[in-house]
Amino acid sequence: MNSKFPHIGTSVFTVMSALAHEYKAINLSQGFPDFDCDPRLAQFAADYSLSGHNQYAPMAGLPVLRQKIAALYQKQYALSYDWESETTICIGATEALFATIMAIVRPGEEVIIIEPAYDAYRPAIEMAGGKVLSHPLSAPDYQIDWLAVEQLITDKTRLLLLNSPHNPTGKMLKHGDIEALEQIISRHPLFIASDEVYEYITFDSHKHLCLAQSPKLRERSIIISSFGKSLHTTGWKVGYAMAPESISTEIRKVHQYITFSVATPLQYAINQYLGQYPEQLLAVGPMYEAKRNLFLELMAGSRFKALSCEGSYFQLMDYSGISDMDDVSFARWLTTEIGVAAIPLSPFYASPPADKVVRFCFAKRDDTLRKACQRLVKI
Ligand code: PMP
Ligand code: GLN
Repeated sequence: MNSKFPHIGTSVFTVMSALAHEYKAINLSQGFPDFDCDPRLAQFAADYSLSGHNQYAPMAGLPVLRQKIAALYQKQYALSYDWESETTICIGATEALFATIMAIVRPGEEVIIIEPAYDAYRPAIEMAGGKVLSHPLSAPDYQIDWLAVEQLITDKTRLLLLNSPHNPTGKMLKHGDIEALEQIISRHPLFIASDEVYEYITFDSHKHLCLAQSPKLRERSIIISSFGKSLHTTGWKVGYAMAPESISTEIRKVHQYITFSVATPLQYAINQYLGQYPEQLLAVGPMYEAKRNLFLELMAGSRFKALSCEGSYFQLMDYSGISDMDDVSFARWLTTEIGVAAIPLSPFYASPPADKVVRFCFAKRDDTLRKACQRLVKI
């Protein structure tokens, strides 16, 4: 077939996980836990399926789960979202992002992304017929220059796509960033899609700022998140989009024709779990902070240099003290020769900088991290 998308290859996460499997390497590449979710949550899913909750859920999501999510935003961020008109359950953050982009961006319109950017953003924008404008950041600070971002805006710009806590850098937006965004939004009629899938995975004194906590931003923002990260259920693909009614209405027009609805027993299970064990969401941050600390401790004697990680379950490491290889070759070499798979950063850029940095996922059992670090410190 003559490909419609000849420039789209296989995602780096799939490629590196397959390579890890082929070489029996310890897989610190693709972002998913190697431990299971809470068995009580898995039991709820089984129970709901066995008790006959197996037909289509309502298009926008189960009312009980949407009510629970709206209540969670109230409790966590003092934000009031209407469960009925402003909350939509999607198949993971990936579908929420795709539906948002498809609903907002017309052919020829522009979307600004900050690079390194999660690999799903650019293809979704291009499939909508949009044009990507990027603000590239580089190691070690990955500092966003909001003046430079604003200079990218033209009369065709419709959407700004943000991600905090950030994959792959682990950086988080601060109050100063929110103020800069408020200024930008007051001068330009843009929407903001805010990918907050790692919202509960934050460390040290860093507290997640939901973009909608700024009333000025709330009106123009789509907040996207997922239970995959916070409940250790990446394979369930249950996420959601929160947005003002007029935007949610448009997102649902796309959602109803990509998927219509999301797995019924999984929605019931998450609703029951959040109701019965609400403390579990907040336990995720300290749990991953201990893993990040363990990983850093174990790597302290290595020739890798750790960059700062404020949130997410990814740790960037500078390998310039080890090799001159480009990051793709280095990540392959680590996998095939050292037996630990990592993710190179260049697939997160259209024009990658020459940074010698790779990403390790520390959402792994402590013994997995120990085994991996034993190999990495020997280099
Ligand atoms: N956004 C970011 C930044 C991610 O790292 C991921 C990866 N899991 C997603 C979105 C996709 O989330 P989901 O699996 O819920 O579709
Ligand atoms: N978000 C995960 C990561 O960054 C991967 C998800 C996927 O493989 N699509 O590694």
